[in-house]
Amino acid sequence: MADTALMQIPGLVDPVPVPREVTPRADGRVDLLGLPKKAIASLFETAGLDAKAAKLRGKQVFHWIYHRGVTDFEAMTDIAKTMRPWLAERFVVGRPEVVLAQHSEDGTRKWLLRTADGHEFEMVFIPDETRGTLCVSSQVGCTLNCRFCHTGTMRLVRNLTPGEIVGQVMLARDALGEWPKGSMAGFTDDDGDDDEGGDYTADGRLLTNIVMMGMGEPLYNFDNVRDGLKIVMDPEGLALSRRRITLSTSGVVPLMGRAGEEIGVNLAVSLHAVTNEIRDEIVPINRKYRIEELLQACADYPKASNARRITFEYVMLKDKNDSDEDAHELVRLIKKYKLPAKVNLIPFNPWPGAIYDCSTPERIRRFSEIVFGLGISAPVRTPRGRDIDAACGQLKTAAAKMSRAELDRLAEEKQAALG
Ligand code: SAH
Ligand code: SF4
Repeated sequence: MADTALMQIPGLVDPVPVPREVTPRADGRVDLLGLPKKAIASLFETAGLDAKAAKLRGKQVFHWIYHRGVTDFEAMTDIAKTMRPWLAERFVVGRPEVVLAQHSEDGTRKWLLRTADGHEFEMVFIPDETRGTLCVSSQVGCTLNCRFCHTGTMRLVRNLTPGEIVGQVMLARDALGEWPKGSMAGFTDDDGDDDEGGDYTADGRLLTNIVMMGMGEPLYNFDNVRDGLKIVMDPEGLALSRRRITLSTSGVVPLMGRAGEEIGVNLAVSLHAVTNEIRDEIVPINRKYRIEELLQACADYPKASNARRITFEYVMLKDKNDSDEDAHELVRLIKKYKLPAKVNLIPFNPWPGAIYDCSTPERIRRFSEIVFGLGISAPVRTPRGRDIDAACGQLKTAAAKMSRAELDRLAEEKQAALG
């Protein structure tokens, strides 16, 4: 019998992630979603177009995909009618498949999505008076095991591709009906006929902000997250300002500088504790990158300034990290590292099997008052979409099981409604 006592327990701190590869599509066509203009053009060239035509078609197709949300080559009206089937034979413009879409009483929406090769992940949309925030996933599962996080109990299945990351934003725009309608100024049809009506106008933007706070650790899928967000930010792509995008990390210190330089979005850091002892327990990556290194990386974050403060996320766990002393220490640390920062206090969202409780509302209020009284903004994040279990970071383990259970429940409800 193997001596299991000597075997290293995998998975606690920072295991080498061995994500699964993406399985190519069975029909052999290539999905263009998530590719930059140059890559689309070079695929067209490899497929047989001359360089000039490939560049022009790449530009047109890029515009249709990202600016207009079109998935059907037949709808790309400035491309010659004869060219469209040629494209459709070789390429697709995909979307993550929707397994389940839920709508909360408070307007929060949640989708259970599936990749083309069958892995499930989630996306949440949270509207409020001034903005609409989409909570985007970066991985299916997570290699880290934060003790209070349900995603942390899942194994990493695989990294999401740039297309699956951009695809979430595209899908949300589809669902919210946010693609511009009408004809495109500056683009004339090859055939010379104007088969579109109306003006090219952007509809009201319900989706205004993106947070990389869904499943996964975005900095452990650095290249794909960067490439996906580049398209989201591209003025000719989805054209969302970097100021409206926030990347949340549990503290992958060596990649934070690169994130600032190569992506340049707002930074949120899942701090959750003010001593290494407690943080080692609840955010185990702390055993590798200590609080001091993490805060120094925040101080060095290229984009940090008073106008663009770093957000420290702090989950409120009863009798674990929520004392008056903790609140004072939090402010001391922020001031010691001279960080332009604000604190987001997140009431712990319990899940079956979780070993923590949420702090009491009075405790959370007191904690917030102390931090605020010492000059640091510390709003309490109101739980949203509780009826559909939608809070970011509370994404479910074993998505397959969950969808099964939910599908069963929905089926039961339907049955009951039918009488
Ligand atoms: N992996 C990244 C981003 C995804 S988690 C990170 O850890 O920062 C997004 C946020 O939700 C993190 O701050 C995370 O700590 C928090 N979170 C996770 N589970 C939670 C729960 N059950 N209740 C409240 N917040 C939670
Ligand atoms: Fe992964 Fe973030 Fe959850 Fe930690 S909190 S397990 S890093 S998703």
